[in-house]
Amino acid sequence: MRVLIADDDPVARVKLRSLLKKWSYRPVLAENGDDAWRILSAEDPPLICILDWMMPGLDGIDLCKRVRALKREPYTYLILVTGKGRPEDIVLGMGAGADDYVTKPYDHHELEVRVRAGRRVVDLQLELIQTRDRLQYEATHDHLTGHLNRAETLQQLNRELARARREETEVGVAMIDVDFFKRVNDTHGHAAGDEVLREVARRLQSVVRSYDVLGRIGGEEFVAVLPTCTVEDILHVGDRLRSAVASSPIVVSEDLVLPVTVSVGLAASTKGVDVSGDKLLMVADAALYRAKRDGRDRVVLAKNASTSGTFAAVDAPIQGPGSKTG
Ligand SMILES: [Mg+2]
Repeated sequence: MRVLIADDDPVARVKLRSLLKKWSYRPVLAENGDDAWRILSAEDPPLICILDWMMPGLDGIDLCKRVRALKREPYTYLILVTGKGRPEDIVLGMGAGADDYVTKPYDHHELEVRVRAGRRVVDLQLELIQTRDRLQYEATHDHLTGHLNRAETLQQLNRELARARREETEVGVAMIDVDFFKRVNDTHGHAAGDEVLREVARRLQSVVRSYDVLGRIGGEEFVAVLPTCTVEDILHVGDRLRSAVASSPIVVSEDLVLPVTVSVGLAASTKGVDVSGDKLLMVADAALYRAKRDGRDRVVLAKNASTSGTFAAVDAPIQGPGSKTG
């Protein structure tokens, strides 16, 4: 683990450096406070710092205050080294954000113990951050495909709708359902079904734009959230989604290759008209239902998606080479 040493006294610096090396840390040296601040405010700074209080330019107290003001994650553990051992100095140092202090001249063993305590705090926090990030990921992602899960997809959709209201743009949604998916599971087993879903997810992802959001909202059901999409754009995306899946059969395993198709229901909000994510999805779902009823492997766009009461009215299918797969 890297440890920053900030001391204007070259003798103290060299001594600290050899001690830290002996204790298996990787020392990073700063000759004064300004130097130290450059290191601490850059990307990926050392997480343990031994800061001399008295330095020209920024002193140890200034550095503590500045590091804390960054409110950065992961936490930076700060040990202040000072010739001042009066209680009021210690209060001042800790008040500035130091985690610990050592008075000069310090005993080597004592300093080693203080640095080790810092390392324990830093390690524990790194572990906590990792766990939190993993939980956060698991709570928002579908573990089969790695796409967003239903709750997170809806959140993203509502976020995009709120943004579209502010910026007076539209949001499109595509609801995508794998045709006759139950047959895959029933005929070839769930492992094959899972592989089909993963490959469908990959293909869908490969044709959406980088700022679109793709989520898996049900067993074989996906939603693409398409910000700032005109109706023409949405039709294009819808057909790209459909043909990405239908274009070539899915190789499930060496001896199982399955032609797979999806049906797509499209809907879009209208500039200046308030619509909830739930409502928009309901409209897209009605269009999807129509695509299924009309033969599958096709794209259907809902008419006037965001005006209430019209979600049952949909355009005729705009794409689809027919109903070869039923
Ligand atoms: Mg000094």
